[in-house]
Amino acid sequence: MSSNVIAIDGPAASGKRTVARNLSEALGIAYINTGALYRAVAWKLCRCGLDPYSVTPEQVDKILAETAISYEKATPDAPLDIKIDGVFPGSELRSAEISAAASKVATMPNVRAWLLELQRGMAKLGRIVMEGRDIGTAVFPDAQFKFFLTASPLIRARRRLSQSGETVDGATLESVAR
Ligand code: C5P
Repeated sequence: MSSNVIAIDGPAASGKRTVARNLSEALGIAYINTGALYRAVAWKLCRCGLDPYSVTPEQVDKILAETAISYEKATPDAPLDIKIDGVFPGSELRSAEISAAASKVATMPNVRAWLLELQRGMAKLGRIVMEGRDIGTAVFPDAQFKFFLTASPLIRARRRLSQSGETVDGATLESVAR
């Protein structure tokens, strides 16, 4: 049993990140946002000059073999943040370009398999809160504590609109909810 992991699943903009962050603060344990891992792979591909829409599985495999992703503190007082090949990309990971590229890389079976191993490895470090769309189902199906969050389309749309870089220009509450 993956007893180290508290798994928080749910659809897009259902509030996973907020709940996971608050829970990790309340318990004084680390929190891993797995969407950031997909964003990190997308960021790396883009940095290597590869187009996520036309890259081949072989090219992706080669990049993954040369990629190191970890969660670390940029400064002693900072929260854990994602580090890729020694760099903290910070807010770059939430740009519109990387959001779209992350959705694309999340459909690649070799990326999912590579991140599955990485996420399982992170659970060996101690008790953690892990949040993402497949954490309780695919990554840690035997986690001792699992939560699945839902919210109405309108609430989710409102939340998504407030997250900069997450929606296209001109998006409305109705269009995002639809
Ligand atoms: O949650 P976030 O928007 O940061 O996720 C970035 C991308 O990674 C999304 O397209 C999402 O579908 C994908 N993802 C995934 N599995 C996860 C976490 C995120 O496919 N566990």
